[in-house]
Parts: sequence; C-alpha cells; structure tokens
Amino acid sequence: MSAPFTVTIAGGGTAGWMTAAALARFAGPATRIRLVESEAIGTVGVGEATIPQIRLFNHGLGIDEDAFVAATGGTFKLGIEFVDWWKTGHRYMHAFGTVGRDIGVVPFHHYWTRANAAGVAGPLGDYALNEVAARAGRMHRGPSITAPNLPPVPYAYHFDATLYARFLRDYAEARGVERIEGRILSVERAPTGDIAALRLEGDRRIDGDLFVDCTGFRALLIGETLGVGYETWSHWLPCDRALAVPSEPTPEPAPYTRSTAHKAGWQWRIPLRHRTGNGHVYCSAHTSDDEAAATLLAGLDTPALGDPRPLSFTTGRRIRAREANVVAIGLSSGFLEPLESTSIHLIQSAIARLLKLFPGRTVTDAERAEYNRQTDFEIERIRDMVILHYHATERSEPFWQACRAMTLPDTLQARIELYRARGHIVREHDELFTEPGWLQVLAGQGIAPAAWHPLADTLPDADLAGFMRMLADQNVREATAMKPHAAFLRAAP
Ligand code: FAD
Repeated sequence: MSAPFTVTIAGGGTAGWMTAAALARFAGPATRIRLVESEAIGTVGVGEATIPQIRLFNHGLGIDEDAFVAATGGTFKLGIEFVDWWKTGHRYMHAFGTVGRDIGVVPFHHYWTRANAAGVAGPLGDYALNEVAARAGRMHRGPSITAPNLPPVPYAYHFDATLYARFLRDYAEARGVERIEGRILSVERAPTGDIAALRLEGDRRIDGDLFVDCTGFRALLIGETLGVGYETWSHWLPCDRALAVPSEPTPEPAPYTRSTAHKAGWQWRIPLRHRTGNGHVYCSAHTSDDEAAATLLAGLDTPALGDPRPLSFTTGRRIRAREANVVAIGLSSGFLEPLESTSIHLIQSAIARLLKLFPGRTVTDAERAEYNRQTDFEIERIRDMVILHYHATERSEPFWQACRAMTLPDTLQARIELYRARGHIVREHDELFTEPGWLQVLAGQGIAPAAWHPLADTLPDADLAGFMRMLADQNVREATAMKPHAAFLRAAP
C-alpha cells in the first residue's frame, strides 16, 4: 500500500484551523493531515467580524449553529454601519441582503434615484430590510414556524477569533488531524524546488506532499523560503497599524459592526457576548501611536478591559499564493484592511479553491496558474471596495485629502464612472460584493448618478411616491415582527 497523501499545515491561527477542519471533512480518508503551531509565537488574535458566507463554511462542516455561537461568544451581524466616512455627522449602513424591489429588468435603485430627484425618496437604508432590522436591534433566522411570512434576513457573526480557532481545532482533531506543537526553525527543500520538510525544535522533521502556509504575516514558506514577493498596496490603502482593545460587553449587543472614521483612520466596534471588540486602524504617517491610542479609548462605548495591543501590517497581496507544492492561506497570502470583514472570507474561499483544484502527487503549472488567477480576481475586487470608502469622502484632514487625490485602480475608476453616468452597477462573474452592496457604499459615500435607467420612467409619476412608501412601510412592519437580537443569544446556551 502506498503512503497516504500528506498535507502539512504550517500555522494554527484562524487560517490554519479552518484549513485543517475543512480538509478533515472533505479530503477523504486517504489524506493525512498534520498541523504545526507554536504556542510561544501565538496568533494575531483579531478577526472577529464576518460576512454571511461563513454560514456556508460552518454548514459544510456540519457545525451546529447554536453550539458554535455559544462556544465562540458569538453574536449575529446584519451589516456594517459606517459613521463619519463621507463627512462628519453622516452615517449609513452596508447591510447584507437586498435593497428595495426591482421592477422587471430595472434595478430598484434607479427608481430611488428618480424619487430622490422628485423629492419623494427616503434614505436608501429605509429600503434595506437588514438595515431597518439592525437599527431596531431585531433579527430573524430564516423560515420559521412562528413567523412564516417573514423573509429571510441574511446574517453573519461576530465571534472571538481565538475561541473559533479552538472550536475548529477540537473539530479537526476529533476527525484525525494531528497537531504538532513546536517552533519551525528551518525549511528543507527538495531538488525539484518543492518543500520537502519542516525542521522543528527538538530535532523533529515533518515532511509532506502539500504544504499550506498559514504562518500569518511571517509567510515562512511562501515568502521566506520560496521567495515569492509581496505586492504592496499602501498607495491605495495607506493604513499600516492597528491598536486593539476589548471593553465591557453591553447587555443588548447590537446586531451589526460599527466603523467610525477618525482623523487618520477608523475605529471598529464589534459586540460579542462576553466583551466588546474595539480597534483603531490608522496611518502612522498621519498620527502618532499615542494619539491613536487616545482616540481609540475616547471612542469606546464601554470601559476598556486592559491596554491597547499594537499590530503592524502592510496592505497588499502575495504575488502568487500558490507556488511549487505550497499554497498560502490567510495573512501569508495578503492583507486588506478589516474594513469590510473580508479576511476570514478570503481564507474560506481559498480553502474551497484548493479543494476544487486539489493536487495529486504532482501539480501542473496550468493548475497553479488557474488557482492564482482566481485568487487575484477575487482580492482585487474586494480591494476596490475598500478603497472606495477611503477615496469618496469630503473629510478635510490631510490623510483624507490624500486619499481623495489618489489615482484609483482602473477597475474601480471604471465602476465609479459607470455609476455616476446613469447609476449602472455591474457585478462581474462571481465577485464577492453584490450590486446592493456596491450601491450602499457608492451612495453612502456621497456619489450620486447624473441620470437613471430610462426604463425607470415607465412607472407613472403618480405611482412613484406610493411605491417608495409601500416598500419602506413593509420593512418597518417586517422588522417589528422580528424578535430582539438578544432573544437569539438567549436561545443559544
Ligand atoms: P495568525 O493568526 O498570525 O497565525 C499564524 C500561525 O502561525 C500561528 O499559529 C503561529 O503560531 C504560527 N507560526 C508562525 N511562525 C511559526 C513558526 N516559526 N513555527 C511554528 N508556528 C509558527 N478578519 C476578518 O475576517 N474580520 C475582521 O474583523 C478582522 N479584523 C482584523 C483586524 C486587524 C487589525 C488585523 C491585523 C486583522 C484582522 N482580520 C480580520 C484578519 C484576521 O485576523 C486574519 O485573517 C486571521 O486571523 C487569519 O490569520 P492567520 O491564521 O493567517 O495568521
């Protein structure tokens, strides 16, 4: 009998344990899975807000939702509120799910633009059920016997990243993943250029057929060993530091993430059950660490539990996430800011891509190239969304002026021009963000189209105001019929 195909995962943060759990579930009994991590080095320890796709990941693993939410201090999330981003005093939400109702081939927002011009439109958020529910502190978990007429509300989670990794570790170990504790001291190469083995303290050698680099910013295999470079995106996303601090929990955690713009960055608030996660992401060229810490602490809603913890990063991506017999997943493959909570999603979709293009004992260049092409497409579109928040602003501080003046990636420039001209929003292939997602951020950052879809004029003037009112009223009715968010937290033990 031939030796099993062996996958060795280097690193046990969120990326490492998500990869281990998914491979344990899907790679079949002929695959041996090992994970090396070092408690002394530890993990980045942040990463607490997610997007709805994570439910597919957990569901695929057969994880019980209530057990998972309870084990990770989790709460439910209906979207992200952006405060002071377009200009000070303004707020909007990028809520999950749809906005309004399309009529025939014409997307809803063309009617909204027309209604705005006629003075009969409410704020865009009135038409997004998720936003109305989030602001009311209510939610709904999909078709239920007690509320059969309520539409499903797409949701994600806030959770404690360390507890999630721990939860997945238990899952993976129970399904045969071998965990190896120890620091990787060096990496051994085969004559082919592939990685042959990891050398650990205590003179241990861990070999493998496929290596997954989940060593975080260190990128021990893909970067340090294979020498694959890092493409820096700091000219588009100039923030390079963060301070994270927990604060007291609130009895009624809000079912959404809040992001508040500051002088040279922004602050997150992520409500968990046992604490509130907070952090200030900032640009060190425009504010000092001390000033950034003072801003963070002044912006807390509840008393801090400890001192702010510093983190440094460079936004960008690994030039090739897959090289030789290595696949980089997680921070080793790149980092966008946490502004749209996409890092954990990028981990999950990298795992799905790896499983789709799972190697045999040999991998062809074509397979590697396809993996890398898909990775590039995905992260570039998400990058554009994050840049949009920074660029489209009327804030006056030097940091924001510089963001406004930057030259945009062509893909984003084209998207903004298309929207400005006549409100068109096009979702390309299977890019992550939907049309309603782009709409909420374009509109929320103050970009207005000069015209609307000509076919939106087919709705008679007399019906336009009624249509808008009907949709807004329906959202209020439906949100009121939902349960308070806190009721779902009590339901999960
Ligand atoms: P890490 O957590 O750094 O894990 C690296 C692992 O490699 C560790 O186990 C470490 O011990 C091991 N290791 C490294 N070197 C060695 C060695 N020599 N020997 C042995 N082991 C080694 N994502 C979201 O989705 N939502 C968010 O809200 C969010 N917020 C964020 C906020 C900030 C400020 C930052 C910086 C990131 C945020 N992220 C967020 C991203 C998220 O934290 C990461 O994507 C996620 O935690 C994955 O990290 P990782 O597993 O790749 O790396």
